[in-house]
Amino acid sequence: MDFEDMATVNILGCKVHLVDMPAALEVITQMVNQEAQGCKQVVTLNAEIIYQAGRQKELRRIINQAGLVTADGIGTVWAARTLGYPQKERVSGIDLLINICSRAAAQGWKIYLLGAAPGVALKAGRNLQQLYPGLTVCGCRDGYFSSHDEPGIIADINAQSPHILVAALGAPKQEYWLNRNRELLKVPVCMGVGGSFDVIAGVKQRAPQLFIKLNLEWFYRLLTEPARFRRQLALPAFALKVLRQKHSLRRPGPEQG
Ligand code: UDP
Repeated sequence: MDFEDMATVNILGCKVHLVDMPAALEVITQMVNQEAQGCKQVVTLNAEIIYQAGRQKELRRIINQAGLVTADGIGTVWAARTLGYPQKERVSGIDLLINICSRAAAQGWKIYLLGAAPGVALKAGRNLQQLYPGLTVCGCRDGYFSSHDEPGIIADINAQSPHILVAALGAPKQEYWLNRNRELLKVPVCMGVGGSFDVIAGVKQRAPQLFIKLNLEWFYRLLTEPARFRRQLALPAFALKVLRQKHSLRRPGPEQG
């Protein structure tokens, strides 16, 4: 599959590629191999961010120009299916990162970890290297920096020449940051992974498997991080908007003749 021709669904004005995990990995492999074509952005998109993008034109632009946008979260999968598209599964940031690391270890790709509190990226990198011996983590840097630090951070990333820059600054901050610096980054692939470093480093717990299996990871996060309640208030509004989009697609157009 040529990644330029991948099927997409439009959810509330945001493009989402209809890929499962193996296809997403294939696309990323092609991106790494097309290094000369500049830095391609990967977005793992959940319902909260789609909803936010409805009010932020710039965020919509970033999502729609990304080389790969995956359905991160059951809300996005549900929306695709509701709109009539056969989205098989979620491709979340953390699962994609783990799968990328497995392939990176086999292919000799270097990854750079940017984000989370001081020390967390380093710990996450070590844990990933334990999981995937041979994985090269060529750089780690925390995600708490000022704009004055940015030239130095970008220079370090470029000096280490990773194949994939992984940013865990939270969504959509990481999407804005990566997009803004894309022209300066000499990296074939960049992607945002939200709070994944915290989980991989063991600072935070991911939802138990049962919650993940039942597509209730969002509910687990709500229980364990009540501060997310405001963000998750967007979910019912998101569902209503998707149903409205479905309805407007079904409505017959003006009669001809
Ligand atoms: N973070 C960061 N820099 C910032 C703000 C946040 O590196 O300026 C990190 C934070 O430490 C955490 C992650 O970004 O590791 C955000 O996690 P969260 O679970 O809130 O992100 P989401 O998955 O919801 O995008």
